[in-house]
Amino acid sequence: TMEQTAIDDAKPRQRGGDRPVEPAVELLDICKSFGKVDVLKGVSATVVPGETVCLIGASGSGKSTLLRCINLLSPPTSGTIRVHGQVITAPKVDLNAVRSRIGMVFQHFNLFPHKSALDNITVALRRVRRMSRQEAEERALAQLEKVGLRSLASSRPGSLSGGQQQRVAIARSLAMEPDIMLFDEATSALDPELVKGVLDVMRDLATSSGMTMVVVTHEMNFAREVSDRVLFMDSGVIAEEGPARQLLADPQTPRLRSFLSQVL
Ligand code: ADP
Ligand code: MG
Repeated sequence: TMEQTAIDDAKPRQRGGDRPVEPAVELLDICKSFGKVDVLKGVSATVVPGETVCLIGASGSGKSTLLRCINLLSPPTSGTIRVHGQVITAPKVDLNAVRSRIGMVFQHFNLFPHKSALDNITVALRRVRRMSRQEAEERALAQLEKVGLRSLASSRPGSLSGGQQQRVAIARSLAMEPDIMLFDEATSALDPELVKGVLDVMRDLATSSGMTMVVVTHEMNFAREVSDRVLFMDSGVIAEEGPARQLLADPQTPRLRSFLSQVL
């Protein structure tokens, strides 16, 4: 019946599949205030497993704050977050366990300057995951291979380009085998000629590895070509959302039209 169809349509689906699936991330009425400043004003969104969602919007609209809520780097003031069904905003949740399932890549990659690319990746594997040196190095090399940097494993960050450093940071995050990856303007600090290499790694992760990803970006071509859905944030709310191509080609709200006219 039409009613049943409407109900089914409201349920998240795995890409290409028919059965409703448990969302990878569910945000329910997330609010975040800093003192008297309300930064997030009731954000609800769902990301299904394998989906890539881009978060776009003007500077100051709350994109980073929302991303930092998702891995509890900065917990919401109110609202509920579920990750693969588990309420992570409940009291007594193991923060380290949550964060180790959710990788995050920042604009500034914060590699240890005196360690090689390889050692930057093995540190957490050895300390947090208690891996042996050999096991950690094997895993780190496999991740460096994936981002095209295996041959530079012994290089220190200072001798790598910004784009290569960011790819090491991505490899470091992936080495922890997260279920979900968050990217906060991962290419914004890079010289223009270095952006593509990093976006290619992200594209590959989204398409070949089927990683669940939430990507804050100003790269509208990446959003259009790689993401399944785009969320447009404006003043702490999701002002518009939809399939990437449709939303970018045919914005419905004046606010999104105005934003796109400035960035496209
Ligand atoms: P975006 O990533 O979209 O540029 P942010 O999430 O960084 O936006 O910031 C949204 C708003 O929240 C801004 O007005 C910013 O000044 C404010 N804000 C972010 N973090 C803090 C903080 N730790 N303390 C106070 N205000 C903050
Ligand atoms: Mg930001």
